[in-house]
Amino acid sequence: MKSLEGILVDSKIKSRRQVRFDETTGLILEMGDLKIPREKIDYYFDDNCLVFAGMGDIHVHAREDVSQKHIYKEDFLSASKAALNGGLTHLCDMPNNPIPPVDDKSYEDKLKLTKNGLIPILLYAGIGPSTRPLSYLVPYKAYMGPSIGELFFKSNKELDEVLKFYKGQHVSFHCEDPEVLVQKKDEKSHLKRRPTKAEVMATETALNLIEKYHLVGKLCHFSSGEGMNKIRTARANGTTVLCEVTPQHLFFNDETIPESRKTFFQMNPPIRPKSDQDAMLKALFSGEIDFLATDHAPHSLEEKNQGISGLTGLDTYGAFVTWLIVEKKMDARLAAKVCSENPGSFVNQFLPSLKNIDKRFAAFGSGFGKFEKSFYANFTVLNLSIPTAVSKENLKTKVSWSPFEGITFPGSVSAVFLGGKLNLQSK
Ligand SMILES: [Zn+2]
Repeated sequence: MKSLEGILVDSKIKSRRQVRFDETTGLILEMGDLKIPREKIDYYFDDNCLVFAGMGDIHVHAREDVSQKHIYKEDFLSASKAALNGGLTHLCDMPNNPIPPVDDKSYEDKLKLTKNGLIPILLYAGIGPSTRPLSYLVPYKAYMGPSIGELFFKSNKELDEVLKFYKGQHVSFHCEDPEVLVQKKDEKSHLKRRPTKAEVMATETALNLIEKYHLVGKLCHFSSGEGMNKIRTARANGTTVLCEVTPQHLFFNDETIPESRKTFFQMNPPIRPKSDQDAMLKALFSGEIDFLATDHAPHSLEEKNQGISGLTGLDTYGAFVTWLIVEKKMDARLAAKVCSENPGSFVNQFLPSLKNIDKRFAAFGSGFGKFEKSFYANFTVLNLSIPTAVSKENLKTKVSWSPFEGITFPGSVSAVFLGGKLNLQSK
């Protein structure tokens, strides 16, 4: 049995508390004012630190699949090292691989490879023009327009015809309208080739499909104020929809990226003007965003210079959260919600079904994201007073670059616990 004391933060309370856990089962036993004397505490964190239930990233492209074609970019081992480095304790991996997981067999074949990872990894299954749901509950991803990989739809009609088979399922959408992208493909800049209009139109389509097929819908890496208005209206009219935002869309805007760096900064949807950055920060702070998710999408530097889309984000996740808390005055309890609790809840709903196909999923008790009895004892400790200067040397992603290189965040990841075991500690 082990114990930890620090300023524990959940979505409701931020206060000095203690937690006791069993490092053999990996599960939490109790949390609160446990009156354990200081000298008996195994892990003590001072007031510079905030202790969160393990943070999780539900949108990652770890690049490994049975073809092994893209493991020069990343694999489950390197992605999980980068995740731990960034304070993350579990991941959800996207399906746009050379051999995408789209049915029971291909899903289970890919799932075997996640054993190479150091942290729990859940897989999305892909939805493509001729796919059908798996025989057990998993999250799905639908690419509405061409992005990276072949798993996408050329028209909304085609998407509608397939989604009718996915009634009631958990479906995440990449919202960029395929027809707008085709119309704009010859524009001069990436921003103009993938305009806000594409996100707004695709959002309308996705919201309609969510209603029509009673989907548990999630909109990925949301990037525009105008699109957020569509979500607001839909929610006001009773539609339940979840929404992610990336650190990149919150930190950068197109106006501050020098012309010579625009190709490097390409991602889908693009980094937008300052008005959209501000709108997304505002939406986050007002509680309208459910997940801070990186859309970690590594490519080699050579590929980046040729203009391929995708940015990395795992290594810098926790340090970026300290920027939100220290510089942007984000309530730490809101950070606990979008970085720990909600990502945990997202994963936890699939654990009962997945443990039938892979025993590893049975080990996590009630799952991730809370300091509650029987939850898995994953913790992310952020130190708000030791800054992180992002440089190649402190990255673990296989591609060794980050859009945040050269930037100093005000705080850092101080420690990460996995199943009650201290896995990473700095300073
Ligand atoms: Zn993505």
